[in-house]
Amino acid sequence: MGKIIAIANQKGGVGKTTTSVNLGACLAYIGKKVLMVDIDPQGNATSGAGIEKADVEQCIYDVLVDDVAAREVIKPTKVENLYAIPATIQLAGAEIELVPTISREVRLKRALDEVKNEYDYILIDCPPSLGLLTINSLTAADAVLIPVQCEYYALEGLSQLLNTVRIVQKHLNNDLKIEGVLLTMLDARTNLGIQVIEEVKKYFQDKVYKTIIPRNVRLSEAPSHGEPIIIYDPKSRGAEVYLDLAKEVVSNG
Ligand code: ADP
Ligand code: MG
Repeated sequence: MGKIIAIANQKGGVGKTTTSVNLGACLAYIGKKVLMVDIDPQGNATSGAGIEKADVEQCIYDVLVDDVAAREVIKPTKVENLYAIPATIQLAGAEIELVPTISREVRLKRALDEVKNEYDYILIDCPPSLGLLTINSLTAADAVLIPVQCEYYALEGLSQLLNTVRIVQKHLNNDLKIEGVLLTMLDARTNLGIQVIEEVKKYFQDKVYKTIIPRNVRLSEAPSHGEPIIIYDPKSRGAEVYLDLAKEVVSNG
């Protein structure tokens, strides 16, 4: 039975998409069968995984709003064992279109239940909000992975996210767990990063991954080539750390 991990933080630019694409690709690289679900209307995970949005006929929108089976919209990627459900800008309407629909919070869960057995991991790249798309992701997930950027105010906004997690646990998904907190974009040249690491560890304790993602230019270049880092530059520091993270995620069970 596959494990579903929602990668969520309502702050933009903290590394959700970079982590979805590269953790997904690295898990696939070490032999796991992975499905990455893009549920952000910006569709950055879709293009980052090498899927041309112009060629996408059906996407996660059709699954959520029109009850199209997940299986019908799954696409292979350049990485063996890594599959994706793409998102296009069409998804921007879903947040509002879902409001009056029946069981609007459990649509993603029901769709993924149909394919869960066929994958070792399903990663969901959430949008930068706590709206219905993120609620659907948290409801479908076994666990949530929270990327936190190593910067001032790193913890700001996290109480809102944790509050949403608690509400989902109470009403929609009793079994939802915190998978882990991932420190991202560490700039090793400053002391600030060290302070932030300490602060986040004090708050989340053993939930913080040992693997810390540094700033790495190759990680920021890879999406424009439509390639996960493990293909774009397998020898880079970025590839190394996301591979470490993949192993840590697997060993955490
Ligand atoms: P989110 O999905 O949370 O909005 P992204 O993953 O899109 O965040 O990251 C925001 C920006 O930072 C992107 O341009 C991405 O390429 C860049 N980025 C993310 N992680 C790193 C990193 N470790 N090193 C350098 N650039 C990064
Ligand atoms: Mg993103």
